Amino acid sequence: MAAIDQPAARSNFQRPHRIVIVGGGVGGLGLATRLGETLGKAGDAQIVLIDRSPTHFWKPLLHEAASGQIDPATHQLQYAVQAQRNGFEFEQGELAGIDRAERLAMIGATHDADGREILPARQLAFDTLVLALGSVTNFFGVRGAAEHALPLESVVHAETFRRKLLDACIRANHTRRTNPAQAVEPVSINIVGAGATGVELAAALRDTVRLLNRYSLFALDPVRDFRIRLIEGSARVLPALSNEISDRAQRMLCGLGVDVLTDTRVTEVRTDAVFTHGGVQLPSDIAIWTAGIAGPPVLRAMDGVAVNRSAQVLVNRTLQTTDDTNIFALGDCAACPSHSADVFLAPRAQVAHQQAVFLAQAMKCRVTGRALPEFTYRDAGTLVGFGNKGAIGSLSGLRARPIFVDGWLATVVYKLIYRKHIMTLTGFTGMAFDTASHWLRRCAQPLIKLH
Ligand SMILES: Cc1cc2nc3c(=O)[nH]c(=O)nc-3n(C[C@H](O)[C@H](O)[C@H](O)COP(=O)(O)OP(=O)(O)OC[C@H]3O[C@@H](n4cnc5c(N)ncnc54)[C@H](O)[C@@H]3O)c2cc1C
Repeated sequence: MAAIDQPAARSNFQRPHRIVIVGGGVGGLGLATRLGETLGKAGDAQIVLIDRSPTHFWKPLLHEAASGQIDPATHQLQYAVQAQRNGFEFEQGELAGIDRAERLAMIGATHDADGREILPARQLAFDTLVLALGSVTNFFGVRGAAEHALPLESVVHAETFRRKLLDACIRANHTRRTNPAQAVEPVSINIVGAGATGVELAAALRDTVRLLNRYSLFALDPVRDFRIRLIEGSARVLPALSNEISDRAQRMLCGLGVDVLTDTRVTEVRTDAVFTHGGVQLPSDIAIWTAGIAGPPVLRAMDGVAVNRSAQVLVNRTLQTTDDTNIFALGDCAACPSHSADVFLAPRAQVAHQQAVFLAQAMKCRVTGRALPEFTYRDAGTLVGFGNKGAIGSLSGLRARPIFVDGWLATVVYKLIYRKHIMTLTGFTGMAFDTASHWLRRCAQPLIKLH
């Protein structure tokens, strides 16, 4: 049943209505761009986007950045430019809290690398607030995990991982060269969590170590000198997907030389080892945690905004928070009911994108005081990338049941998903130029980022 959005008709809203979106990720930036193009340019609403970072990066590319296969700097979109072109305003800063009664978003101060303040802490008034903060890694309280396992949430994490990988290769290569007679331990990379992120990272790393071998500084044997382990607590890889996709993924990973450990729960992470529930100690040069997500900690601290056990904001089908009709949430930070009230939609780019498209329409209703529609998610399927071996997965909506896809079709569709995201933000021409520039860059640049 559609909810009547009474507060939108109240006279104490500012004119024009101010919509503040916090978080410029898949959902938030898509929404700001759409609203800027419509309500913003028409002067019907003032659209403000807040993000702690000056640039947007599409998170599903993070495993490619971490494995050095793309240079994240060339895939970042600057919020200030996007705002100027699409009729919204951009404020850089980190959301520190909200004052619901006064309808204020509290933004923390920003500092430069030397700790000097660039912008002071400030408050931003809103009529409508949209929380689109994404998620943080959930280490599930495993001992040492937060300290010694890297998360993969941002470009900074991806770059840290890549640097550690290169350093470990240089170290092992030097040891092998200077002590040819001595047995040298392989470089051990432990990926905890065999969901889509862990699987894609493991496959990408297999490509990377093969490509690194051609440079003398990193001249290690891609098979003998590397151990890439994928550790999963449940009985199969990709546990959220069908058995068919899971079995096929497991076979592909084994074919690539990834050690897959299923039914294996990690109990502790140290700088040089990962321990599993059976008391097994696995050597570790780098551990990376891709095993789960939670809402950002700031959400737990917000007075009057109800969250679930994973700190995701509880929303109803209008995407309004259950406690405050002036506050909406979408994407990973929102616990949005799926087919039943106690089953939530998975944290996926597809969900965030569809919710942004939905809210762009719903906000038009809200600023004119009309009834809000309700969000319905349509699953288009799931594709998982295996580096140069292509992609596999399922596509939904073509037949009554999802169909399994692999080969060129799966690979082409997988690659088109990112292009579609860029097209959403920059239009067809922008996407075409972006694609061409990346293609030319790939012809001219080394296949792995080494610096
Ligand atoms: C490595 C990896 C691979 C993935 N692959 C896939 C895939 O293949 N398919 C798929 O469907 N999904 C994939 N996902 C999940 C997908 O990326 C997320 O579901 C999606 O990005 C969620 O979008 P969002 O808008 O909710 O948040 P995000 O895209 O994460 O954006 C959140 C934004 O909020 C900003 N922010 C956070 N906190 C604050 C704060 N306090 N103040 C200001 N700004 C803040 C961040 O800087 C960021 O810009 C992957 C995720 C990862 C990490």
